[in-house]
Amino acid sequence: MEQKIEGLIAGLKRRNIEGIYVESRQEAGVKIEQFIPKSSSVGISGSKTLDEIGIVARLEASGYKVFNQYKPGISRQQSMQMRNLGCRADCFLTSCNAISEKGEIVFFSGYGHRTSGISNADNLVVVCGVNKITSSLDQALKRSREHATVLNCKRLDWKSACLQDGTCRKDICLAPEYKRMCCQILVIESEVNPGRMKVIIVGESLGF
Ligand code: SF4
Repeated sequence: MEQKIEGLIAGLKRRNIEGIYVESRQEAGVKIEQFIPKSSSVGISGSKTLDEIGIVARLEASGYKVFNQYKPGISRQQSMQMRNLGCRADCFLTSCNAISEKGEIVFFSGYGHRTSGISNADNLVVVCGVNKITSSLDQALKRSREHATVLNCKRLDWKSACLQDGTCRKDICLAPEYKRMCCQILVIESEVNPGRMKVIIVGESLGF
């Protein structure tokens, strides 16, 4: 595993992306705060990984302005407004669906807020458990759709074509019959701006 992580971090570096390894979700929380200046506003994506780290509550307790679309009690309209503001925040915090050993990073998105936030942010922090590392980009895409998305559809009772039996049927998974979760796919193969993008690899299984 150690060699695989070293190879992955070297692969990210070649792509102008800073990769860092931490042992635990607690260390990931500390590292995330180090990567986000205190005065920053923060946009987030829906993410079981971020939930498991408990990062939103932690950032809010530390005084960050977090555009939290999942805040209890807010309306659907307010939630959508938070997502839009989050896409334009100083920092965007997210997890990925998979990452190849060479450092290609895969993100799936339903409405496109996640892909928008990732593409736009001046400061982008991605968190990824070791369970999401795959042998190739093809495997990363396969994992994202056939493993991560089907489990997320089930978790959120999302009315997609895979909801019933966990089998992807992307050729028929279209509106209005189905509510498709993986409408947009973003693969980051490289970064132009030095320092814009950081990937925290966590030595635990996190998210799907
Ligand atoms: S295309 Fe549809 S059926 Fe396939 S994983 Fe995505 S949401 Fe599920």
